[in-house]
Amino acid sequence: MIAITSNTVSGERIQEIVNHIEQFGVQAHVSKGMDRTVIGIIGKGEPTLAEQLRQMKDVEQVIKISKSYKLASRDFHPDNTVINIKGVEIGGDQLVVMGGPCAVETPEQIDEIAKLVKQAGGQVLRGGAFKPRTGPYSFQGVGVEGLEMMAEAGKKHGLLTITEVMTPEYVNVCAEYADILQVGTRNMQNFDLLRKLGESDTPVLLKRGFSSTYDEFLNAAEYILAGGNPNVMLCERGIRTFETYTRNTLDLTAIPVLQQLSHLPVISDPSHGTGRRELVETMSKASVAAGANGLIIEMHTDPDNSMTGDGVQSLFPDQFANLLVDLKKVAEAVGLKFDAVK
Ligand code: PEP
Ligand code: MN
Repeated sequence: MIAITSNTVSGERIQEIVNHIEQFGVQAHVSKGMDRTVIGIIGKGEPTLAEQLRQMKDVEQVIKISKSYKLASRDFHPDNTVINIKGVEIGGDQLVVMGGPCAVETPEQIDEIAKLVKQAGGQVLRGGAFKPRTGPYSFQGVGVEGLEMMAEAGKKHGLLTITEVMTPEYVNVCAEYADILQVGTRNMQNFDLLRKLGESDTPVLLKRGFSSTYDEFLNAAEYILAGGNPNVMLCERGIRTFETYTRNTLDLTAIPVLQQLSHLPVISDPSHGTGRRELVETMSKASVAAGANGLIIEMHTDPDNSMTGDGVQSLFPDQFANLLVDLKKVAEAVGLKFDAVK
């Protein structure tokens, strides 16, 4: 349920209303929007509380929210969430590009790629140190050493960093080194991991499970938000369909739908979404045209020798740089800035 007041109601009065609500043993989350303040209420005890709120001075409307996720919904938080990480805003008026290899391999590899991501105008360096591989005999990542290598490269070249965390035990270690923690598609419903990330304040990029509905996806985000971490981005990375030509089917519709249902930033991953290098540029531009707040793109200096199978979907450095020039035009056409690219 949400209670709506005009934004002219004082903070003191809002606090009084919140105190009243909390007497019912439920939680109240206040979201101050441009022209109204929304108080989201989570918990039971609704019928009498709803009645009382309807009669209260300054409360304009009380609406029952039937969606199972609350904090992730736009009803609870009408304005877009903008996540500011060391001055880089995600979800605001800037397009954000995250680029880098599927996996961190060596210090030289990640340093060289970081340099190229920065030169091209990207703001975030991606790279997995812990890799969720479908088979147990495949390369599993270089672990904590990889986190160190990536943190150093990011710092040296002035980039934020994002890396995948696979288990609750590693959340704190990964957060020590990286600016953003990625939850992979295979872990979208790893509820222990989501709960642990809720206790952190490090921003999280949550990838959509490859067979998950929007509702399941937003409920997964809700776990992190309900734990107290408001810094969540949603990532569409392709879903499994009957089509086998592409690795996954990038669900472009997810971008506007998630933005209608939720206030969280939406990032598109055309690399895993297509699995084919020759499709990544087109689907990157299509994602921005569809309203994505950012992209996460695999790029490698030597994709043929990449240690994961994702070389086939990794852009060459010059392709990546040319793409970012084109993306600036698409971004501007949809009202986004991309200042890092001249
Ligand atoms: C990745 O980003 O390299 C990755 C493993 O992604 P996903 O979880 O989307 O497959
Ligand atoms: Mn990958």
